[in-house]
Amino acid sequence: MVLGFTAAAAFTLFINRDGLLHPQHDGERLAAGSLADALDRLVGDPSATDSAPLREELERRSDRERVFWVQHADGSLLLPRPVAGEGMALSSLVGQAMAAHSSAWSVRSFSPLLIGTDRRLVKDPVGNSYLTYTLHRSPGGSRLWVAEDISTSVASLRSRLLGLAGVWILCLVLTLVAISILTRRIVQPLKDLHRLAASVTSASLASSHLKLDRPPLEVAELAGSFNGLLDRLALAWSQQRHFVGLVSHELRNPLMIISGYLRRLQRRGQNLDPEQMRALATTEAETHRITRMLNDLLDLSRSESGQLQMVLGPVAVDEVLTTACDLARSQLSRPLLLTLPKEAAEGPIHAVAETDRLQQVLLNLIENADKYSPPGRPIHLNLSQDADTLCISVQDQGIGIALEDIPKVFDRFHRGRNAIEHERGSGLGLSVVKLLVEAMGGSIDVESEIGVGSRFHIRLPAA
Ligand code: ADP
Repeated sequence: MVLGFTAAAAFTLFINRDGLLHPQHDGERLAAGSLADALDRLVGDPSATDSAPLREELERRSDRERVFWVQHADGSLLLPRPVAGEGMALSSLVGQAMAAHSSAWSVRSFSPLLIGTDRRLVKDPVGNSYLTYTLHRSPGGSRLWVAEDISTSVASLRSRLLGLAGVWILCLVLTLVAISILTRRIVQPLKDLHRLAASVTSASLASSHLKLDRPPLEVAELAGSFNGLLDRLALAWSQQRHFVGLVSHELRNPLMIISGYLRRLQRRGQNLDPEQMRALATTEAETHRITRMLNDLLDLSRSESGQLQMVLGPVAVDEVLTTACDLARSQLSRPLLLTLPKEAAEGPIHAVAETDRLQQVLLNLIENADKYSPPGRPIHLNLSQDADTLCISVQDQGIGIALEDIPKVFDRFHRGRNAIEHERGSGLGLSVVKLLVEAMGGSIDVESEIGVGSRFHIRLPAA
């Protein structure tokens, strides 16, 4: 827009340059006709040695706005007789004009494009601008010069140029404003799209949609495809969740029956040899592991579909800890030590929780502590309390967790590099633990050091 306007304005200025800089063109031509005749007569007639008639003609034609003079072939000048007091101004003007025409073009306020290459612009001592050029060349080599006062035209040209510059700046500002509005209308939706794409999670898939206020057509199409993609992902995710929930549920019951039969077989297996008993124990342990995994999957699927139900109420945490330790000890071949605060002797210590889910969390952490610790190293459980929080810690002296794995251990399906070498697992246990603890209004974190051990802290609101 700015370039177009500049080109149009420059072109208009160029084609109007004659009207701007030669306002008295016609009068000047008339005067030039008779002067040129007089000049040709004087130079062409060898008997005409007196230049007085030509000088008279020059004086008659010259006035304040236009001055004529003759330059003979030998370089001598014939000037009109100056009016009293203007002698200095006239000779200075002519002197400047002759000097300007004998020098090469210099970059001044007007370019040759505007005034022509055979013309020069000079100023008299009082600051009037004159356009000077040769009007006529006689066959003998003499030249008729004119200095035309174009001060008014120059002033008008200058004011037009100033006006043009003003309009140009206005156009530039308007163009910049238009560009910035247009850019914002395109860029803002793209930023929104980026923000939404970065923040969308499996939980927010179904409710995430890009809403734009009167976007440009192309951006609206992009937003439409993005929203369509989110819808398809949400549908696929919900079908997958449904499938996992269904399969886990269907597999859990037969597995429980199998594990019940296995336990009975082990109890009544007096007639089995040690090799068979070991096979039974391994089968039972694997069945237990698969059942745990299915339970975890079921919990995750329930939580995602909003069906994880918890009946929260005051729970005697010290009693749940004691029960969990008793249950775990029957499976462990290492010491499991429980430390309760002295207040426990005076009566149960209550937290807001659900007994079964809290027990599930504790067993899960104890199982991990056992899984990731060398044989024989003890596991410590500790309960402490302050004004409104109860803190349960599960500490082992096991392999520890690498620093870079610590922030990710509660992520679904994440398995630390320590675990991959040591034990089989699904990477689901801790994500379910976190899910349950948070559903009870609590929090969980871990501190750990490779080769030293890990300590998980569960904080629950006191009841
Ligand atoms: P899994 O044990 O099936 O791999 P979890 O979700 O229970 O999955 O644990 C996630 C990861 O956290 C484990 O793979 C392991 O790297 C690390 N981890 C959990 N508990 C312990 C622990 N007590 N000691 C060392 N690393 C642990």
